[in-house]
Amino acid sequence: EVLTNNYKPYEQYRVVKKSYGNADKIPKATMFTIVKNSELDELLASIQQLESRFNRRFNYDWVFVNDEPFTDKFIEETSSMVSGTARYGIIPYEHWSYPSWIDQDKAKEIRDSDEAKSMPYGDSESYRFMCRYNSKYFYHHPIMEEYEYYWRVEPSVTFQCDIIEDPIRRLKENGILYGFTIAFLEFPVTIRTLWETSMSFFKNPDIQQDLIPYKKSMISFVSSDEGETYNNCHFWTNFEIASLEVWRSDTYEKYVDFLDRSGGFFYERWGDAPVHSIAISRMLSANQIHAFQDISYQHTEATSCPPDDDYWKRAKCTCNRENDWTVSSRMDCNRRFLKMSGQSVMKDYHKYLK
Ligand code: GDP
Ligand code: MN
Repeated sequence: EVLTNNYKPYEQYRVVKKSYGNADKIPKATMFTIVKNSELDELLASIQQLESRFNRRFNYDWVFVNDEPFTDKFIEETSSMVSGTARYGIIPYEHWSYPSWIDQDKAKEIRDSDEAKSMPYGDSESYRFMCRYNSKYFYHHPIMEEYEYYWRVEPSVTFQCDIIEDPIRRLKENGILYGFTIAFLEFPVTIRTLWETSMSFFKNPDIQQDLIPYKKSMISFVSSDEGETYNNCHFWTNFEIASLEVWRSDTYEKYVDFLDRSGGFFYERWGDAPVHSIAISRMLSANQIHAFQDISYQHTEATSCPPDDDYWKRAKCTCNRENDWTVSSRMDCNRRFLKMSGQSVMKDYHKYLK
């Protein structure tokens, strides 16, 4: 049932569907997807997998947002694919455009430079709006207001094991505020001044009373030399299950505002992944961050696969444990996280460690 005349500010349509599970709606959470109309097919494939591997048993809502209105086809096909309530929002123009202090000619010159052309999405304006939106605005969209946790989902991702336990509830019940699957290395050329800008913010005496002590933080995940420099590790934010309260906190709001004023979303090409990761690592302690080793997640070439032979069978996985990126030394950031956080590893972790 599509109701077109019953929407909140910025909300395009509200598709109301009967919810069969998650009856007590605890925690109040939603799937969250920012997407273009042109990515419909790839998105339907993502939704189909996550629904059949997980959400058809839990029926969490699914929020879709776009800087342009969604097409009727998009709304019809995605809403029939999800098991919970599907909601569609338009991103307000102020959240997907230049702030007054940005010199747009300078930003364009930078996008046209040879250096920008050498980096992924370096010459793209819309990618920058998207990264800034995911860093600074998505959690303020009125459509997100009622939620406490969200699970970020992109087009073209796969989930190759059943998700047996509810990971959102697992976070909530354990007081965990941020969960990820894969940690990656950022391209240094995209974030030349992000670390020094971030550290100058976090050293500000005015915010110390709201911050946990430096030594209790997980800063060792993102810095291998006691905070001197960034080691480029970041949580791969195209998968993210997290509390919205972290982003809505005073400290994070001040942080991302400070970053925005410094111009790096436009004059460099700061991704939301390193921004989220540096903030999470400085603001949270190890027991508030969780690596989901039991969720098999794949996007582009990177895959995670549970390093536990019995669990792999029980969860009816199709991923190849030998090709996992999180246990192998191909990417050291997952291993670094597990080591620094002290989180226990799955049963056959050491068998697959290469
Ligand atoms: P990558 O994963 O870093 O290669 O970047 P993607 O192209 O997958 O973009 C990340 C997410 O933002 C995806 O869910 C895209 O659908 C979405 N996205 C990227 N650019 C735009 C845009 O211009 N408009 C909208 N509405 N979504 C976008
Ligand atoms: Mn993507």
